[in-house]
Amino acid sequence: MTLTPVLTRYWNLPNSWTLDTYRAHQGYEALPTAFAMTPDEVIATVKDAGLRGRGGAGFPTGMKWGFIPQGPEPDGTVKPHYLVVNADESEPGTCKDIPLMLASPHSLIEGVIIAAYAIRAAHAFIYVRGEVVPVLRRLQAAVAEAYAAGLLGTDILGSGYDLELTVHAGAGAYICGEETALLDSLEGRRGQPRLRPPFPAVAGLYASPTVVNNVESIASVPPILRNGPSWFRAMGTEKSPGFTLYSLSGHVTRPGQYEAQLGVTLRELLGYAGGVRAGHQLKFWTPGGSSTPLFTAEHLDVPLDYENVMAHGSMLGTKALQIFDDTTCAVRAVLRWTEFYAHESCGKCTPCREGTYWLVQLLTRLEAGLGTPADLDKLLDIADTINGKSFCALGDGAASPIVSSMKYFRDEYIAHLERGGCPFDPARATAWA
Ligand code: NAD
Ligand code: SF4
Repeated sequence: MTLTPVLTRYWNLPNSWTLDTYRAHQGYEALPTAFAMTPDEVIATVKDAGLRGRGGAGFPTGMKWGFIPQGPEPDGTVKPHYLVVNADESEPGTCKDIPLMLASPHSLIEGVIIAAYAIRAAHAFIYVRGEVVPVLRRLQAAVAEAYAAGLLGTDILGSGYDLELTVHAGAGAYICGEETALLDSLEGRRGQPRLRPPFPAVAGLYASPTVVNNVESIASVPPILRNGPSWFRAMGTEKSPGFTLYSLSGHVTRPGQYEAQLGVTLRELLGYAGGVRAGHQLKFWTPGGSSTPLFTAEHLDVPLDYENVMAHGSMLGTKALQIFDDTTCAVRAVLRWTEFYAHESCGKCTPCREGTYWLVQLLTRLEAGLGTPADLDKLLDIADTINGKSFCALGDGAASPIVSSMKYFRDEYIAHLERGGCPFDPARATAWA
């Protein structure tokens, strides 16, 4: 399968982030097409294309837009609608939205205008990680450029449509990437997940109908409007159509963003990325960030689309392919991820708050060679108490690497016990294979 550079096609040009460069590459050409349609027709186009959310869950984007109630509420009141872009990317290994916003902020802004028009919103927000200051500045500059060019504000391109766009900086909590915690944070409160339902489409920002979409999902909308749904559907698979960004990181020769059709395999992507670093073998990898069950070399030819990855026991998630070679201690990698989840647990529910703490204690002991054989069952027991019993997806994500690493690398856990420490520690065993 060849690469399909659509979003990435001019990222390497000097000043790729400016309005002029974007316009020179068909930028903002989808807007008149959208304005010539009714909002419902725009939604139908995105539905026909079959675009699925790129933030991890793969929920159909057009369907989500279609959930926004039209007309007055049952009590006769008319609530405003909001579009919120989730730009709080922070899943370990996930690194696609930040480069997208740095290289091509106008592709996101054009998508925002189209999406907001489709759901009849007059105010949109981009909620971006506050720590990533260069992205924040780049977005703010691009939004100012768009206002100055009459692409935001009142009567955009003479269409009669008005839209305000606010860039909001988050304060750096992973949980604020969960859509309802994000909305709490945007409203000025401590970000903690809300009970769903009601989903944001019914009661979101300020209890009004709200669409929350990922950066890549929104930036994929202008090319669909420009080229039509059949063009999009000609790529990928029937249920996972189109192109997407696969982020390769870790022990790979040329890490980075590889834009390809859904259904490409890791073997093919590694071909473009120069393979696993010289002299080493692939040991394990994540198909969609650290929250998705691990894959190993036996999964090199699994088509990376939503259905096939799930059929093989994992999830496509954010398509964050973290590559680990034969020098990696699986127990240490899992400990590192688990420390992250324990640190980022918002504390709202007991299984995740207490469970992630205990997982870190056990893994630390095991990795140092101080554990007992009973700890292995305890690990799985705690993971089982978290999985499916936590309030939001963070808990499930924390349990995932534990369960899958025990499935593939139980012998490595046992080796830590038997050797009284990490077998990858050079002082202990180069003989480990
Ligand atoms: P989800 O499947 O519960 O929901 C997906 C989207 O569909 C949400 O916007 C939700 O509001 C909407 N939705 C689902 N059912 C609906 C219904 N019946 N009516 C109206 N709307 C509905 O997934 P989630 O909990 O929002 O997200 C979990 C995913 O997030 C994981 O798959 C993970 O990969 C990903 N994730 C991403 C990052 C990142 O940095 N991008 C970080 C952590 C997790
Ligand atoms: Fe908070 Fe974790 Fe519970 Fe989610 S699962 S609500 S992050 S404590």
